[in-house]
Order: sequence, then structure tokens, then C-alpha cells
Amino acid sequence: MSTGRVALTGKTRICPHCKSTILESASVCPACQHHLRFDPKAIAERRMQATFSALRVEGAFRHPEEAEAWEYSIVVSVRNDRGEEVARKVVGVGALNANEGRSVTLSVDVFKPPEK
Ligand SMILES: [Zn+2]
Repeated sequence: MSTGRVALTGKTRICPHCKSTILESASVCPACQHHLRFDPKAIAERRMQATFSALRVEGAFRHPEEAEAWEYSIVVSVRNDRGEEVARKVVGVGALNANEGRSVTLSVDVFKPPEK
């Protein structure tokens, strides 16, 4: 007996397409954007939920001129209210040749349970 309500508890699962760790409640993988097999009733419920972007930060960096290549690593760190690191991921590494650049976008999406 189910009410059809999706419990939003932070449980995770592995995306079958790209193997990213994603929310169990997600109907679309935020990494590869593939649609995921999901209980149809739950999908309908899910679409009614308010979702907002809590945070979006964009920045860019560029190798300035003719010189030897640089290497870079992009790290995301998540801390709780007590300043304890709860997650730390290297999301990308690479090299920049002269006059090459990269831009980075960090976004945080928040999923709210349906209104009661
Ligand atoms: Zn995926």
C-alpha cells in the first residue's frame, strides 16, 4: 500500500548509464541527463515537486600566453554547518596549452517534497 509519495531522504543509487552516484529519487541523471527507469506513479509525483537551484557559480581560467602547458585539477568540497567536510571530489583534471581556457559551472539543485 503506497500513497505514491516519494520520500526524499538523500538515499543514493548508481546511474546505470554513467555510473555516477545520484539521488534515488531522481528521474533524470544530473550527470549524463539520461532518463531513468522509475515507477510511473512516482514520476508523476516527482514532476509536481518544486525544484529550485540553490546555488550556481561560474568561472573561467585561461593559460595566458606562449609558454609550457599547465595542468589543473578541479575539486569540489562540501561542508556541513560544523565545518566538517562531508564530501570531496575531483571532478576533472587536464592540461592547458598556450592560450587555451576552461570554464567551470558548479550548480546545486534542491528537491522539495510535495505540499501536504
Ligand atoms: Zn548518468
